[in-house]
Amino acid sequence: MVRGARASTSAANPNPFSEFDYGAVEVTAGPLKQQYDRLSAAYLELDNDRLLRVYRERAGLPAPGAPMGGWYGRDGFVPGHSLGQYISGLSRIGKTTGDAAFAHKVQALVEGFAATLGPNDQSFAGPNAENVWPCYILDKHLAGLIDAYNLAGIAEARELLPRVFHGALPYIPERGRDRIGKKDPPYDETYVLPESLFTAYGLTGDRALYDRAIVYLLDRDFFDPLAAGRDVFPGRHAYSHVIALSSAGKARLVLGEEKYLHAMANAWSLLKTNQQYATGGWGPNETFIEPHKGLLFDSLHTTADHFETPCGSYAAIKLARYLLCATGEARYGDSLERVLFNGTLAVKYPDTDGDYPYYSTYGAKSQKVFYPKKWPCCSGTLIQGVADYVKNIYFRTGDGVAVIFYTPSHLKWSQSGTPVTLTQDTEYPLSETINFSVSCAAPVSFALHLRIPDWAIAKPSVTVNGKPADFELQRGFAVVRRPWASGDRLSLELKQVFRAEPIDGLHPNTVALMRGPLVYVEINPLAAGDKHPPLDSFRPAQELGIFAATSAGHSRRYAPFYAVRDTTYTMYAERS
Ligand SMILES: [Zn+2]
Repeated sequence: MVRGARASTSAANPNPFSEFDYGAVEVTAGPLKQQYDRLSAAYLELDNDRLLRVYRERAGLPAPGAPMGGWYGRDGFVPGHSLGQYISGLSRIGKTTGDAAFAHKVQALVEGFAATLGPNDQSFAGPNAENVWPCYILDKHLAGLIDAYNLAGIAEARELLPRVFHGALPYIPERGRDRIGKKDPPYDETYVLPESLFTAYGLTGDRALYDRAIVYLLDRDFFDPLAAGRDVFPGRHAYSHVIALSSAGKARLVLGEEKYLHAMANAWSLLKTNQQYATGGWGPNETFIEPHKGLLFDSLHTTADHFETPCGSYAAIKLARYLLCATGEARYGDSLERVLFNGTLAVKYPDTDGDYPYYSTYGAKSQKVFYPKKWPCCSGTLIQGVADYVKNIYFRTGDGVAVIFYTPSHLKWSQSGTPVTLTQDTEYPLSETINFSVSCAAPVSFALHLRIPDWAIAKPSVTVNGKPADFELQRGFAVVRRPWASGDRLSLELKQVFRAEPIDGLHPNTVALMRGPLVYVEINPLAAGDKHPPLDSFRPAQELGIFAATSAGHSRRYAPFYAVRDTTYTMYAERS
């Protein structure tokens, strides 16, 4: 099939849901807000000279600032790899918050980076970058420039897209291929690139970007068998193949081929059924397991590297958003919620000099730790993923708004020409009540689609202005349609009970404790004289009766995994 005839990125949107822009939503309180603010400030403080140093050294320019070291340094694993992701995350946060300091920093970084390109537009910061990981890094460069242009208003960033791409051509392969079985460099990941290449093509019209996106789509080895329902995950590198599904999501929109939706939906089901821990994470030692052999259980004892959390959560949440938009089905929001609360939100806060979270550990008596090498991949996806919190909460529907994620926030949009603000106020998931209020210039009719999670055991209760409200259950949503006026209030109750989830089919008695979307972990008893670190949201023990009752005479305490900071915890226990 000749795809060139349909080269377009502006085909009619076939989707029931669409995302809101970054500027439409703000997270206003709660644990997401706490993490968002803290990480926004930390990334804004990164020193521009230090970030640009490896690029300037490569270009023979004066290069002030201390070396970054770690993965990022000149002789590091992937020199300069995450600059584009920092630019991307800062652009997203600046667009969301309206704080001009972010756009200023983005501008300085884009200009500084552009000054190092030289006559051949070579954008790689060292031999390991160009010889080993050119596609992996090019993807990050493109993502940063796309967001700098779209979100931070940096016009130069769009001009840099084709320059950086053409400058990379001598280093990137002419054909796409899988990473599986590659023992020698270059073994990087061509298949992560098409999403950014298609988007960059849409912004520039440079046909070479489109053509390379096509040849890098991992159709034969991955998307085609997935679309046919075959499980091709076992043995594959975990993060890179899930983020590749974002390329499938973009390819579907650009090429209009529904096989990519089938591939994504089947991939989602296979991950959920065969690969996932209770947190929504997957891929012990970054590798998908052979299902039905008890290997998730085994991994609790054989490794501490259970889930590459910032990268993996970012990939899983992007996949869920593509599927939500393509299908309008609430179940994809359930997985988004699970991996956000127990993945991205649950990581150790990074420090300011390159120590970052990477693997989450689900074995007994674990602690949250930093990755041993500074500035790893996860330092880039962490800020992109946290910056995207505002993209996960509300979606536009044909008839109003779908609420996917429950967290204190507000949304501003225009409904039939009337400006509307929807404010969400809740302590969910620690509380079972979610309150909304509407503010609008004039009364306006629209539908609110409220996601009813798969774990909800009772019919949800919905009231409007204190009175029980009619709603339809549709694709996992309670849909409330009515005329709304300023001051109208809606309240949703989602009854939660504790439940136990087995680690895999062969080990039904090895379970994680869950309530709603949250994994609860046991906080191990303290030695005499130890001070217990404060927990953000520890719940009274009487609410945890189910598990406390199983260990007579021994006081046990559980906390949401995300609230654990430095204390030792145990996620899985044997059911008695
Ligand atoms: Zn990572």
